[in-house]
Amino acid sequence: MNIHEYQAKEIFRRHGIPVPPGEVATTPEDAERIARSFGTTVVVKAQVHAGGRGKAGGVKLAKTPADAKAVASQILGMQIKGLTVQRVLVTPAADIATEAYAGIIVDRASKRAVFMVSPAGGIDIEEVAAKTPEKILRLPVDPRYGLLGFEALRMGFFLYPDVKQARAAAKILQQLYAAFTASGASLAEINPLVTTPAGEVLALDAKMVIDDNELDRRPELAALRDDSAEAPSEVAARKANLTFIKLDGNVGCVVNGAGLAMATMDLVKYYGGEPANFLDIGGSSNPEKVVNALRIITADPNVKAILFNIFGGITRTDDVANGIVTATRSNPLTVPIVIRLTGTNEEIAVKILQEHGFSAMTDMDEAVQRAVALATGGKAA
Ligand code: GDP
Ligand code: MN
Repeated sequence: MNIHEYQAKEIFRRHGIPVPPGEVATTPEDAERIARSFGTTVVVKAQVHAGGRGKAGGVKLAKTPADAKAVASQILGMQIKGLTVQRVLVTPAADIATEAYAGIIVDRASKRAVFMVSPAGGIDIEEVAAKTPEKILRLPVDPRYGLLGFEALRMGFFLYPDVKQARAAAKILQQLYAAFTASGASLAEINPLVTTPAGEVLALDAKMVIDDNELDRRPELAALRDDSAEAPSEVAARKANLTFIKLDGNVGCVVNGAGLAMATMDLVKYYGGEPANFLDIGGSSNPEKVVNALRIITADPNVKAILFNIFGGITRTDDVANGIVTATRSNPLTVPIVIRLTGTNEEIAVKILQEHGFSAMTDMDEAVQRAVALATGGKAA
């Protein structure tokens, strides 16, 4: 789960990281009032789940409350990477001497939380990694000990030659590690970590991604979820209890079981197609789940063919067939559908489908090949 900058900053603050104060506005008038209360030059920052807001025009300085109102009215409603800005953070502007990067992610390869720090901050860290990898220091953390003092200080000195600033950065990195582990995060990032002309070290931006699997035991974090900032298809899927991940291809997949869903996506690729999504309707199914799955998939204009791949065990294939019939009755399909089902109540399912003009296949390879051919207009191998 992504959270907003202002929410991540609040978590950072609670862990002692120096973060400028700030308040959220949803209208230009709000922004003006907040700017007046700070009585100084402010920065108005779009709150969307996307990086590169600065480049996109979503981060702007405002010298007076009237300016803050004006820039807030430009930023509110703006689209950044397909997301509409509905809130802005208004925060006193800091004077910047240098911009560095500090981040921590869960690294699957080393099975550890890994720090990445770079004195070349402010810009995309991916760009630094590609062009000047020597400017990034990576440090895996041993979960038995956490981030040790000397490790934090080593990173501090990698960022700043000045002892005081290196120490200040080391302290911030330990606070960042605490915020990261206490929140069940998969990512926590400060970009930029700045120094001011007076020598202070401050976090001017904050990004955190919380592991979805941590949310059940952290209701206070689950409450930070902002549905309006997420892809509508993923919100709908979550509410319908479906495991769904949107992808860029054109074969919409409806599968029961995560393993079969992965295998189905592999096979779609093997036969030259691209899956439009990962979707697991779960082990035990009911017709409503299928109706919701079809609604979500057909809402994606990229989908050119739909592939059902159901291996009936606990899942009854007749439930799935009834779901397909119900869904397409209220919402007729505009793209071809390929249905492969086998297992529990297969004969009943096939009968239901045939009575309603659908045909069903039992061979997975054939079904996938057919769906790929339909999606690509016969162009795939
Ligand atoms: P991002 O582009 O989405 O990562 O948004 P950031 O919060 O990182 O802001 C982008 C850039 O705006 C930063 O790298 C800074 O150069 C600039 N910026 C952000 N906050 C301030 C501020 O308080 N003072 C000044 N002078 N510049 C700022
Ligand atoms: Mn940033």
